[in-house]
Amino acid sequence: MESRVRLIFVAAAAVLCLGALGSDPASGQAVLSQPATGGGSVAAVADCPVETFPSVSRDPANSRWPAPLLEITCTADQVVVTGNGIPGYAFKRTTPSDLREQSYEWRFPRQPELADDSTSIPLLGAVAIAVNGLPIYGPNEGEFPDPYGDPVYVGILDDCLGHTARRGDYHYHALLLACLTSGVAPEAASPVIGWSFDGFAIYGPRGCADGACTEVVEYVSGWQRSGDPTTYAWDKHDYVESADLNVLDQCNGHTGPQGDYHYHATSGFPYVLGCYSGYVDPSALGPSRGPDRGRRRGPRTIRE
Ligand SMILES: [Zn+2]
Ligand SMILES: [Zn+2]
Repeated sequence: MESRVRLIFVAAAAVLCLGALGSDPASGQAVLSQPATGGGSVAAVADCPVETFPSVSRDPANSRWPAPLLEITCTADQVVVTGNGIPGYAFKRTTPSDLREQSYEWRFPRQPELADDSTSIPLLGAVAIAVNGLPIYGPNEGEFPDPYGDPVYVGILDDCLGHTARRGDYHYHALLLACLTSGVAPEAASPVIGWSFDGFAIYGPRGCADGACTEVVEYVSGWQRSGDPTTYAWDKHDYVESADLNVLDQCNGHTGPQGDYHYHATSGFPYVLGCYSGYVDPSALGPSRGPDRGRRRGPRTIRE
């Protein structure tokens, strides 16, 4: 099973040399479309990040659900991730909603660009995906029962820091390396464990401190708690700028020692993204939303 999934990835990359590989939304199957026009160079093809996505397989405890599905293809300018929302580890129910199979097709830019100004992440719904194709939400719950409280702080997540919403859609509010990768030494620099919808990679908490990677450090959030985040988590945290290079920007990212911008998942709020540093196509922001769709909150900045 694992090698078969890998082969799909290799085949997809090979097909890209001939033309743009798209995805038929009706069937979910990868299909060949017209050859790419503009940006379809060999160099761009090499950027299709299929190798950052793990092989997925069914956990024996999840026999009630179909096996996890995860397929990655690239068009000339987008990465397309299709999946069925079933985790590859045992599902533990921590909310009233049972796990349900989903039909996801996520798209984000292959060539991300930093925007002049950061953009607030949506208050509800997916803001990014983990490398297993499951959605990542922001660091707040919905409007009920404790409006917009921090689900990590409140302790309503499973051992992998996820849970199901009302449609049975399993999602994360924070990321644990051990749930998304295997075989990474605890002291090593973390691999990519997710992708933001602005196209920038999300690494685990540890990263190289210098270009030659002679030192690995844990990157930390610059957001500090200013109140009880049981409700209205965003209002109970402030971003505090720091001269410490291990402290990330307000979006929870930085331009690393290799010169590329990326995010890090952190142990503290906002856990994954604090905002988007790059441009996000609004159509990338997931399917349906709750009644608060479109409501956004701009993070505040305090200078020490
Ligand atoms: Zn949630
Ligand atoms: Zn980094």
